[in-house]
Amino acid sequence: MILVNENFLKLKAGYLFPEISRRVFAFSKANPDAPIIKLGIGDVTEPLAPAVVEAMHKAVDEMATHSGLHGYGPEQGYAFLREAIAESDFKSRGANIAVDEIFISDGAKCDTGNMQEIFGIDNVVAVTDPVYPVYVDTNVMAGRTGDNDGKGRYANIIYMPCTAQNNFVPELPTKPVDMIYLCFPNNPTGAVATKEQLKKWVHYAIENNAVILYDAAYEAFIRDDSIPHSIYEIEGARKVAIEFRSFSKTAGFTGVRCGFTVVPKELVAYTKDGKAVELNPIWNRRHCTKFNGVSYITQKGAVAVYSPKGKKQVQDTINLYMSNADAMRAALTAQGYQVFGGEHAPYIWLKTPEGVDSWSFFDTLLNKANVVCTPGAGFGAAGEGYVRLSAFNNPENVEEAMDRISKI
Ligand SMILES: *Cc1c(COP(=O)(O)O)cnc(C)c1O
Repeated sequence: MILVNENFLKLKAGYLFPEISRRVFAFSKANPDAPIIKLGIGDVTEPLAPAVVEAMHKAVDEMATHSGLHGYGPEQGYAFLREAIAESDFKSRGANIAVDEIFISDGAKCDTGNMQEIFGIDNVVAVTDPVYPVYVDTNVMAGRTGDNDGKGRYANIIYMPCTAQNNFVPELPTKPVDMIYLCFPNNPTGAVATKEQLKKWVHYAIENNAVILYDAAYEAFIRDDSIPHSIYEIEGARKVAIEFRSFSKTAGFTGVRCGFTVVPKELVAYTKDGKAVELNPIWNRRHCTKFNGVSYITQKGAVAVYSPKGKKQVQDTINLYMSNADAMRAALTAQGYQVFGGEHAPYIWLKTPEGVDSWSFFDTLLNKANVVCTPGAGFGAAGEGYVRLSAFNNPENVEEAMDRISKI
């Protein structure tokens, strides 16, 4: 008899985005002429940078010739891209990351989801609340958790609340944990962590022989140079941290698919009898066994992001999104709402009015302003009483949305 992996049965049904779609669909059906503005989704809206498009076209033309055909490439990625990353993303910020510590992939969702595979099943996982659901669900699938309590929390996971009181940066856990997922700038709260705050986490991980799984998918949105873009800007992080990066939000690659993960050579995990084992060769083995590399065309597009033209074009697009975020923060604050984030991230985390829960406020915005947001409760219990508004849109839509919200 074929047995199913019962861990999958513990998963709470995908609820947030299907429920948003259901409510938006029902509203549109009842109000077919309502001009809905979507500030809910975490997807880019601006086209690819011309430098990226040009590089990808050129790569296609190369592939159309015998001499320029690229078949299977190195599973870890082409040297041209890994070298550009090591130099521009890390050395330039004083973080020493070698080319063979960088693994190119088809995105950070896969990498943040797959990384747990190289860790023992008995490790205790700590996540923030609210959280990017991938970290939790992949650990549930692997069997590292108990059952779901019906409200979306799983037994054996340590949830670290991120609230206005702690500026949405969690406190150190009071119970021992082994795998710590952190994401800064944060999705959904838009919060960032300072060097001092990250130092505490690195110190904790060193003291407790834990690992930090650091998702920096939004680092390109940081506008204050004192805020770290990489956890490796913190001394000692090479011993305890894995970092995930993506071209998705940085360069609008959500539909192109390219990201990368850094596994430093000093990073170790332990056998049950306490022997230290290097993780870089283990992730290399896992990556090469299960992944056959990102397409040459995509990697040529990705490396163009680091060219002088590409850097400028990508920055211009980020500036557009961030000027939307500024406009949203200013308008909503003027209307008396309490808003967080949106300064170094494309997300605004808006406190709903007193006594109004996330989903009720979602309905109000939809019905009265025809604006779609994302209810904070969908990201975790501590997200109740908030909604996420995305700055991924064009300035005209943002202005119109803010105007309509002001008339509620
Ligand atoms: C969008 C996003 C990513 C990027 O995922 P890709 O698979 O690279 O598109 C990673 N982490 C978080 C928290 C995100 O919001």
